[in-house]
Amino acid sequence: MTLKTLPELVNQAIHNVIGNGPTKLHEPTFDGNEAKYVQDCIESTYVSSVGKYVDQFEIELAKYTGAKYAVSLVNGTLALHLALKLAGVKVGEEVLVQAFNFVAAANAITYCGATPHFVDIENENLGIDPIKLQNYLSEITKKTGEHTKNVVTGRRIKALVVMHTFGHPSKMDELVEVAKKYNLILIEDAAESIGSYYDQKHTGTIGLMGTMSFNGNKTITTGGGGAILTNNSELAKQAKHLSTTAKIPHKWAFKHDEIGYNYRMPNINAALGCAQLEQLTNKLEKKKKLFDKYKTELSKIKGISIIEEPKNCKSNYWLQSITLDSPSLSMRDNILDNLNAAGYMSRPGWDLLNSLNPFIESPSMSLESSKLLFESLINIPSSPNLVK
Ligand SMILES: *Cc1c(COP(=O)(O)O)cnc(C)c1O
Repeated sequence: MTLKTLPELVNQAIHNVIGNGPTKLHEPTFDGNEAKYVQDCIESTYVSSVGKYVDQFEIELAKYTGAKYAVSLVNGTLALHLALKLAGVKVGEEVLVQAFNFVAAANAITYCGATPHFVDIENENLGIDPIKLQNYLSEITKKTGEHTKNVVTGRRIKALVVMHTFGHPSKMDELVEVAKKYNLILIEDAAESIGSYYDQKHTGTIGLMGTMSFNGNKTITTGGGGAILTNNSELAKQAKHLSTTAKIPHKWAFKHDEIGYNYRMPNINAALGCAQLEQLTNKLEKKKKLFDKYKTELSKIKGISIIEEPKNCKSNYWLQSITLDSPSLSMRDNILDNLNAAGYMSRPGWDLLNSLNPFIESPSMSLESSKLLFESLINIPSSPNLVK
């Protein structure tokens, strides 16, 4: 008998859970009222930026997350841009953000003329490491009045964007504390974490604002879409105003009181979203079931681990992930080659943002944990329709 290699064992385990490929990494499913609501938009002619589904989607989203207000927008990247703008992030300032991250937040920071400043993550929740952040800020900053200044670059550090990686909530209590101590505005990038809770609080409702994405690969989709969540009525009002070209409501006049944006979610997308929200609980149950099955099979294999829900949290298990117990790019890539060849669409984690061309010059702390996670993590097929 020949012993199976690690990549062969991983393929076998995944086959035991989901059967034969080909399988996407995460695909949308439409098994509710999606076609009905979209058809209703077409018949009513309200397919664009005004309509009942936009209002309904915002009400339902606020109700589901427990946020006082939800403002629906064209996508998650521009939701981040608007949130940073509303937080007062300006040209020449810095915003702290994790390096092991999708590129959206770093891009949005630059849309404000600000500079992303990259920070490391910890291994339990895969979010920003609060202890490391605290120590780092105590070394490189000086407080002048209400402002926290980076003494190395001379720039003000204005905000902290916390992202909940693959749907696992970050260590919010500790991060809120650090943000308070250094007078940083805390924004949550909850693009991946609808249905995820930190200590009973829905992700995206803990910071001053939270942003969401409803892109096609997320847990629920509106085609393209995003939202800002907040408990602050003034910010919600401003978000709506700025995202609708800053037009002053009037029966017929075109008056705009500042430079606005056309970031509002169209009604036809919101119609899809209303139907998807009705299916959310069902999708989350299936994703948890898929995790349980993967865990049973994958935990038999020596040398790898499956990423689990962090302590005191509920995860939506947006993307299921395995990690190598000994990080190794060559072994990671072997496993990736093997999985993808068998039709199991699998992907590595993101290249660290500080390594990307547009951000090479951006300030950064040492990123040991981010580097190790990049060398060890693989996302495996995670669609809810992979289980009954
Ligand atoms: C998907 C995603 C976004 C936003 O993406 P859009 O495609 O612009 O909606 C932002 N941040 C993270 C971490 C994401 O995964």
